[in-house]
Amino acid sequence: MTELTHMTVAQALKGLENKDFSAVELTQAHIDAMANYRHLNAFIVETPDLAMDQAKASDERRAKGEAGALDGIPLAIKDLFCTKGVQTTASSKILEGFVPRYDSTVTARLFRDGAVMLGKTALDEFAMGSSNTTSYFGNVINPWKRSDGSNADLVPGGSSGGSSAALAARICMGATGTDTGGSIRQPASFCGITGIKPTYGRCSRWGVVAFASSLDQPGIFGRSVEDTAIMLKSMSGFDPKDSTSADRDVPDWAGQLGGDLKGMKIGIPKEYRMDGMPEEIEKLWQQGIAWAKESGAEIVDVSLPHTKYALPTYYIIAPAEASSNLARYDGVRYGLRVEGQDLTDTYESTRAEGFGDEVKRRIMIGTYVLSAGYYDAYYIKAQKVRRLILQDFEKAYEQCDALLTPTAPSAAFAIGENEDDPIKMYLNDVFTVPASLAGLPGMSVPAGLSADGLPLGLQIIGKAWDELTVLKVGQAIERAANFSALPEMVTKKAA
Ligand code: GLN
Repeated sequence: MTELTHMTVAQALKGLENKDFSAVELTQAHIDAMANYRHLNAFIVETPDLAMDQAKASDERRAKGEAGALDGIPLAIKDLFCTKGVQTTASSKILEGFVPRYDSTVTARLFRDGAVMLGKTALDEFAMGSSNTTSYFGNVINPWKRSDGSNADLVPGGSSGGSSAALAARICMGATGTDTGGSIRQPASFCGITGIKPTYGRCSRWGVVAFASSLDQPGIFGRSVEDTAIMLKSMSGFDPKDSTSADRDVPDWAGQLGGDLKGMKIGIPKEYRMDGMPEEIEKLWQQGIAWAKESGAEIVDVSLPHTKYALPTYYIIAPAEASSNLARYDGVRYGLRVEGQDLTDTYESTRAEGFGDEVKRRIMIGTYVLSAGYYDAYYIKAQKVRRLILQDFEKAYEQCDALLTPTAPSAAFAIGENEDDPIKMYLNDVFTVPASLAGLPGMSVPAGLSADGLPLGLQIIGKAWDELTVLKVGQAIERAANFSALPEMVTKKAA
């Protein structure tokens, strides 16, 4: 039997069914791992007691033959999802102490299918960032280290970095994330795991703390493509409580995986070949193209001419929506209140103390681009460019079924790097943001190691609602890459 913390969800479900181990044993092994890796700071709140109660209930259900699709599987939940009775902060001081009285639709569905929650993972404050260095609760540390012996602490990526670090360190078997501009795909790439952001509208946003509502989309990290397909099914589906939720059937993705890519056309967008892109990223991309070909796909060159406008467009639209969404944090309804001399003073003092620098920066940018006189020049213009970016994809998909690109322009960087210049930090999202603006499904699959021994991911972008093709291409890459490297701290502990 594989060690309990080193299985995939698919293997664990079989093991539970065969009574090789119980949900209680599986959960205990992960609770122990959570304690072992506390120095990574991946969790804001650990919920071991709740997890054990859920695991016991799961074993009872299974004994009665009533097990659900994820029964007994220990997961980590990004602290952006409201969880009933468990503090939910979005990694912000302004929400410290906020205990929701309800579950988000996504977590409710995972629990409905029997999943166990180990705790709530840290993120960049309000999911704004690419490094997990803007959390009020401290930096999250990537379990991976450079192979040069420098031992520098690296970022896990962001914003869902607590989730990706926890999964890479074998603390959980899967972890929820949200992706507004890349927050599942980029941390998956930095941590050597798989992550999928489905089509906008596939998973309900109800009960997920809002950042930029027209972009925010829940998704999942897994140890394999198949695992993400299994978990995504539980999370997905129409929700009348989210007005942008799509009323569409949720396919059995996992059941349709396994084939090769014969008959498929994979597009390679030439605009993703950026000036100054490290050679190892280009090499990895070429390797991915070769793998897709070997699996039977036809490779076609495509053009997404408005790609270069994606980042500036995103950094107008996302802050605009954020400034509006975050207006609700006023010291009256949720979390922190700093009493002032009058109501306005209370609002101002609460927000001044409750929000971190990056969140304030985004609120200011957002308020600026929405203000009279600038609204047409920035916000409306950005909306028009967003449409052009979507049309680029639609045109490209007349020639191909999915796109293959690198996930991020670099491997994980050290904590503190890129901090001096917000623009440099924003460049991390250059390959992930376009699909977000177009609402398309995207996935990152670990494909190789950098010269420094750090994981690098390849991204697959699909047509709207065609997660199946994304997953199929992802699995072909996964098989060819056969990525089995683990962070040294994990192999050492396992030995
Ligand atoms: N890094 C991007 C940002 O800072 C994307 C974040 C996200 O997807 N939540 O906005």
